[in-house]
Amino acid sequence: MLRQINIDYTVERLLDLLNIPSPSGNTEKVMKSVATWLEELGITYSYTNKGQILATVPGTNEHEHRLLTAHVDTLGAMVRSITADGYLKLVNIGGFRWNSVEGEYCQIETASGKIYTGTIQTTKPTVHVYSDMGSIERSAENMVVRLDEMVKSATDVRALGIEVGDFVSFDPRAVVTESGFIKSRHIDDKASVAVLFGVMKAIKEAKVTLPYTTHFLISNNEEIGYGGNSNIPAQVVEYLAVDMGAIGADLTTDEYCVSICALDSSGPYNKAFRQKLVELAKQNEIYYHIDIYPHYGSDASAAIRAGFDIKHALIGPGVHASHSQERTHKDALDNTAKLILSYLQSK
Ligand SMILES: [Zn+2]
Repeated sequence: MLRQINIDYTVERLLDLLNIPSPSGNTEKVMKSVATWLEELGITYSYTNKGQILATVPGTNEHEHRLLTAHVDTLGAMVRSITADGYLKLVNIGGFRWNSVEGEYCQIETASGKIYTGTIQTTKPTVHVYSDMGSIERSAENMVVRLDEMVKSATDVRALGIEVGDFVSFDPRAVVTESGFIKSRHIDDKASVAVLFGVMKAIKEAKVTLPYTTHFLISNNEEIGYGGNSNIPAQVVEYLAVDMGAIGADLTTDEYCVSICALDSSGPYNKAFRQKLVELAKQNEIYYHIDIYPHYGSDASAAIRAGFDIKHALIGPGVHASHSQERTHKDALDNTAKLILSYLQSK
């Protein structure tokens, strides 16, 4: 049985993904890279109207299909208004707290595709002037982008081509450490997309014929709640979302395991499907933890909500400080890939 992915290839794909800005709603560029990598692997795919990519690996059973998904869209922001003194006010895309992006470098993409840079700060950014610098609430109301351009007014900003509705992405600051950690923003869920590529490459190179036709849906609207809930082929019986495992409080997931989710904000995942994944992890000595995620939803729960009659499950690499300064370890990618490989080859 095929058990191993090429971890170097997987980390390389992850770094590529992390360095392409892709806030929900602005994912065309990253999808072009996804399409190119699928072509390199010789895997057929199609685009959906929503801009997702559905790749298919034919298997022995063509009547009952499996579908795996991971999402490339990330948190981000959009220009809400331009202040009279030439700063940008933002509205958030996806669920994060403003303190987690304070001081972060960002990019603004104009309608014509021109990129400008800036820094996200509070409206009272210096201790030398504002006695309440530390206590001012970190909220959309009190945060602005300081543009790296010589602008003094809204007119100056508009002259650059920047307008309300422009997408803003956060600097990922992706780093791979000697000790095997990957720290960056947006490891959620680009780590899982990279793992799916590691898995697809391993299957293709080993010329493994899977027992069931298997689809890989690269979704692009998860952070705003409706990725992966359409274009599911009618033959799909099992739907496995691969998305980050949450870490903290009394949860057991860490940065080295594959996390198996039993329940999130949407309710319990399919019991039999989850138990099958746990059994596979045990049989193949894969390091795993089972957890509930208290504030979480996935593409699988979105698909169930959209009315698809499927069995759904959720697994993924443990990610520390999710939706903030995230970090995971190569071991988590490896364990997630091992569980996916053993699942895809199982009856
Ligand atoms: Zn996610």
